[in-house]
Amino acid sequence: MSSIPEATRPVAADPITADVTALQAAVRGAVHRPGDPGYPSVTFNVAVAQNPWAVVDVADAADVAAVIGFASAHGMTVAVHATGHGATVIGDATIMVRTAALDDCTVDPQTRTARVGAGVRWQTVIDAAAPHGLAPLCGSSPTVGVVGLLSGGGIGPLVRTVGMSADHVRSFTVVTGTGAVKQATPEINPELFWGLRGGKSTLGIITEVVIELPPIAEIYGGALYFDGADADAVLRGWRNWAQGLPREVSTSLALLRLPEMPDVPPMLAGRLSVAVRVAVVGDLAHGPDLIAPLRTLGTVLLDAVGVMPYAQVGAIHADPTSPMPAAECGTLLREFTDDAATELLRVAGPQSGSPLTIVELRLLGGALADRPAVPSAFCHRDAAYTLHTIGVLIPPIAEMVIAAGVQTVEALRPWAHGGEMPNFATTDDPAHIRRCYDEDTAAWLSALAEQHDPRGVLHVGQVVR
Ligand SMILES: Cc1cc2nc3c(=O)[nH]c(=O)nc-3n(C[C@H](O)[C@H](O)[C@H](O)COP(=O)(O)OP(=O)(O)OC[C@H]3O[C@@H](n4cnc5c(N)ncnc54)[C@H](O)[C@@H]3O)c2cc1C
Repeated sequence: MSSIPEATRPVAADPITADVTALQAAVRGAVHRPGDPGYPSVTFNVAVAQNPWAVVDVADAADVAAVIGFASAHGMTVAVHATGHGATVIGDATIMVRTAALDDCTVDPQTRTARVGAGVRWQTVIDAAAPHGLAPLCGSSPTVGVVGLLSGGGIGPLVRTVGMSADHVRSFTVVTGTGAVKQATPEINPELFWGLRGGKSTLGIITEVVIELPPIAEIYGGALYFDGADADAVLRGWRNWAQGLPREVSTSLALLRLPEMPDVPPMLAGRLSVAVRVAVVGDLAHGPDLIAPLRTLGTVLLDAVGVMPYAQVGAIHADPTSPMPAAECGTLLREFTDDAATELLRVAGPQSGSPLTIVELRLLGGALADRPAVPSAFCHRDAAYTLHTIGVLIPPIAEMVIAAGVQTVEALRPWAHGGEMPNFATTDDPAHIRRCYDEDTAAWLSALAEQHDPRGVLHVGQVVR
């Protein structure tokens, strides 16, 4: 179980008597207090309560340092917000650093890199890189923030070919919990470079990142949407097909119960469907043969697989783009056997009555499982699949949604890996956060946090302490 929103929010231990004018004088960006039009931020998951003492639209790294200094002096914590796709509860003893104004995005086709500000979303980099035939390695949704995804490692629709997205980071600019502005590369402050890739905001607030852009102009990919009545055959057929896939192919499957909405194709709305997603990189001419067995697994409601520009990579998962109240659950699986498929169908298949909007399995392995050239705090590369559920918290099914997510994860417990991935465990619950790391990594992250954030100014949300 990951991010079931909490009913309660942190409250300042003592009344906060800080003077907002002192904070305004210390920063170039705008400061918003409760009641101001710029307060609070809209989060992607609107079920998450965020009531910071103030929101600061930081203009640069110096602003971040000033906010950290102010918070430290007044016994407050500092949380960072880019797009709200991974929002956790924020209370009134916290100042929110909002990074939207850090919107620089420069692509250098010579070095095949992009310099990206902390407020930039993936689609912006994708659009800037596309004319050069280069591919920023985003997750399933290009509306997610670049830095937020990389801070949790990041796995995307091409994961088996390219591995973890943060393995393609060249450098960070980061403001640590002491307010120090630092560069982090494999050679400069290597311990920060290690911990910022997987450790979320434990060690600092990133203001800029330089990422590599592999030359991938086109892929053979998309999604086949099957009638939910064929879920049994499609799930088992996909599982068999995916055994021993070459690393040039990445794939996932989702049981979808999509509502009638403008973005949802009519043939998929108000019913159970099964999406089988694929992305083939390299020799695209092999694509049709590779996925031919999938096309015969059941009644195809919509075939949206073909050669596509990488710039349309977001169409593979077609994730929701509008804010909603949601509950997410998930775990990593070490294997997905035929018995596991039977269990998944029992709790989420056509006869289950499941209220979950999305129940998704992503095949891992391939390049993700390789030993990385530069180590990082991202763990559990040996997991075989991610299992992730999303339900919409609308009365009267809200309680059912939470229970169904838990039930789905519990049903697959016999095949669980034991770990979670930071980006799919959006939570401030220490038990979930702990499962994202092996023992050594958690100990190192905690020790580095003591060094780079000795006063615990960043000790809020999804951090390892
Ligand atoms: C629809 C959807 C699809 C997704 N698909 C994928 C996927 O395919 N693969 C994947 O790996 N993840 C995926 N995620 C998870 C997503 O990568 C994380 O939730 C990520 O943290 C979102 O970052 P954000 O900046 O957009 O969101 P925010 O809510 O603004 O930030 C979330 C967290 O990211 C960290 N963070 C953000 N900015 C900074 C910063 N400047 N410095 C340090 N830390 C920072 C902080 O811990 C912050 O609390 C998905 C999430 C959603 C909602």
